[in-house]
Amino acid sequence: MSTEAKSKLIQGSTGAWEVVIGLEVHCQVLSKAKLFSGASTEFGADPNSQVSFVDAAMPGMLPVINKFCVEQAVRTGLGLKAQINLTSVFDRKNYFYADLPAGYQISQFKNPIVGEGEVLVDLPGGEVARVGIERLHLEQDAGKSIHDQHPDSSFVDLNRAGIALMEIVSRPDMRSSEEAAAYLKKLRAIVRYLGTCDGNMEEGSMRADVNVSVRKPGDPLNTRCEIKNMNSMRFIVQAIEYEARRQIDVLESGGRIKQETLLFDTKLCETRPMRSKEEAHDYRYFPDPDLLPLSFEQAWVDEIAASLPELPDAKKARFTAMGLSIYDALVLVAEKETADYFEAMLAEGVDAKAAANWLNNEYFGRLNKAGLALSAGPVSAHANSEIIKMVSENIISGKIAKDVLDILWVEGGDPRSIVESRGLKQVTDTSAIEKAVDAVMAANPDKVEAAKAKPTLAGWFVGQVMKATGGKANPATVNALVKARLGIAEEG
Ligand code: MN
Repeated sequence: MSTEAKSKLIQGSTGAWEVVIGLEVHCQVLSKAKLFSGASTEFGADPNSQVSFVDAAMPGMLPVINKFCVEQAVRTGLGLKAQINLTSVFDRKNYFYADLPAGYQISQFKNPIVGEGEVLVDLPGGEVARVGIERLHLEQDAGKSIHDQHPDSSFVDLNRAGIALMEIVSRPDMRSSEEAAAYLKKLRAIVRYLGTCDGNMEEGSMRADVNVSVRKPGDPLNTRCEIKNMNSMRFIVQAIEYEARRQIDVLESGGRIKQETLLFDTKLCETRPMRSKEEAHDYRYFPDPDLLPLSFEQAWVDEIAASLPELPDAKKARFTAMGLSIYDALVLVAEKETADYFEAMLAEGVDAKAAANWLNNEYFGRLNKAGLALSAGPVSAHANSEIIKMVSENIISGKIAKDVLDILWVEGGDPRSIVESRGLKQVTDTSAIEKAVDAVMAANPDKVEAAKAKPTLAGWFVGQVMKATGGKANPATVNALVKARLGIAEEG
């Protein structure tokens, strides 16, 4: 076993344990209308204001499939490099709950629209892990029960009832909480690039059920528990860590794991049982008699495939081929918006590595500090490109470039005019720099002697001259002049 795999193991009193994780992720389809009705899916509307007779399960109402939602499922399947099934079947999943007026959810059981695929997960250090996708199926969302509005009544909001969900089921291929979080992050990036789901976890458009089991390395899979309805990466990591440790403790004290459904208590940071897991056949799945099997042509799938955007993996490969580090490439492809911004800078003719360094070290740092999304940032791709160009054209130094960015951040405006009007142009006039070098040396004769004996001290003079010229001197010129005055040979 590699050291990498070993380091993910969890130590117990009887030795090392491996945690095995699989995710079932519900992604809300980015569609204006619901899966089987024309009611709106807009988030945040007044309760029960977006409910058609179909969603309310009025007797005699018939569901009609929304072709757009089907297209989004196919699109997502293609993005997961998955098998697209030209024929799939909608089944009724029967259970009783107040927020499910029909008494069943329309889902896909035996014949989902999308079969096996894969997601390549980017891990810290540039490592890539492959997570298998078992299936993607289309289903309706349920309504929402509200228990905290009245002392002795519960309310039901059916706005969400009938909204299209894509349930994406992974293989149990993840071996640590970090891998699970990285998988979810990648899945979110893919659906956002595809535009099939907004990936907004706070609003619940992406929610994960997390299956966790533990085993001794090399052993067969153990009984798993399912942590329901997680919609925060941070809590998913905490829940997996707590749950793996809990299962190890149970097994090491001679107990057995009971298959059950758990909830994660975010205040106590622990999992606890929700209800004992119903067996799948308790749902009495059967094909919905109101809906024909869903079928479409391969030609339609090919048409959708042709319209797919470049996805994160392909972008990452293209960016690293331009000389970017894997780390820089991953930061840039994490969100489509970020990649687009970077590419807008490349289109301005800026060097790829210079643009990546500038964004990752300077601009994104300022955005993070201010808590701003890139779209809300005050500096355009064009303006950032102009700053970098002025550095490569030797108009300003790297230090002044940062000052220009700070000015733009607060005041806006055109970078070249700012440099012009504030006299920030780099001093390349050798005689002016020579004067500054001589002045610093005249004021520090002891340091001159010391630097002659120990050439590494020359850097101190460079710093002083840069300071004296307000950062406007060309650093290479300063360096050369200082060395010449000290009688130190230029290397190289
Ligand atoms: Mn589901």
